[in-house]
Amino acid sequence: MKITAAVARAANADFTIEPVELDDPRDDEVLVRVAGVGICHTDLIARDQHIPVPLPAVLGHEASGVVERVGARVRKVKAGDRVVLSFLSCGHCERCEHREPSYCHSFVALNFPGVRADGSSGMRIGEQSVSGRFFGQSSFATHALAHERNVVKVTDEVALELLGPLGCGFQTGAGAIMRSLACEAGSSVAIFGCGAVGIAAVMGAAIQRCKTIIVVEPQASRRKLALELGATHAIDPMHEDTAARIREIAAAGVRYAFDSTGIGPVIETALGALALHGTLGVV
Ligand SMILES: [Zn+2]
Ligand SMILES: [Zn+2]
Repeated sequence: MKITAAVARAANADFTIEPVELDDPRDDEVLVRVAGVGICHTDLIARDQHIPVPLPAVLGHEASGVVERVGARVRKVKAGDRVVLSFLSCGHCERCEHREPSYCHSFVALNFPGVRADGSSGMRIGEQSVSGRFFGQSSFATHALAHERNVVKVTDEVALELLGPLGCGFQTGAGAIMRSLACEAGSSVAIFGCGAVGIAAVMGAAIQRCKTIIVVEPQASRRKLALELGATHAIDPMHEDTAARIREIAAAGVRYAFDSTGIGPVIETALGALALHGTLGVV
């Protein structure tokens, strides 16, 4: 079928909106009409070739939408279902069997090469093959070919077009706090960076009933939002001494620190903020 997609043609260049030919869903695939999609740092570093997805490519990996058609073996969803799309996993390796599919042994092979195992991408522009299958979806497009394993049904009480980031950024931040670190009620946590991932970590910490939730974030609007969503303290690292401020709030250091920035010196500060026997989470 003919779809319209935002195509990444060159590193550090704008996406171009183009018509693309998309294959029919295979037996285990799900065709989704995209309602909304988040843009994530991982999309940009793939476009810019820090992750070497062959260009041209259709990226996009945190979408929501409505199922249009399913392959013959798909049982989980049917046409008309509202779904969120997430990363793909194999379902049968050691980590998948431990219900930790985000650590699937085939994660890279399933989410980044731009093609299926047989070398097909499912997308073309004219005669030229275009990398697809990004995170098992390539959803910077009107339609995405997902897989039975990476679609999750959602209820119709919520605005579908807003739900895409649940598939990547939100579950990364909330999952780090609620599952990986499993911050306990009454504990203290310092969260570095309040983009989608960090702000979801703040909400996760509020749900866990952490007593002290410190955010470190240079943008005032994000600090304000974090305080509305459950942070107890907000530090501006551009104008305050982060390490000293954290020790003012938690003299012995914090039980947990969480970094969503990926910036070396910030991670060092996060490590230095820990109390003895504290734990640092990085994503
Ligand atoms: Zn992402
Ligand atoms: Zn697996």
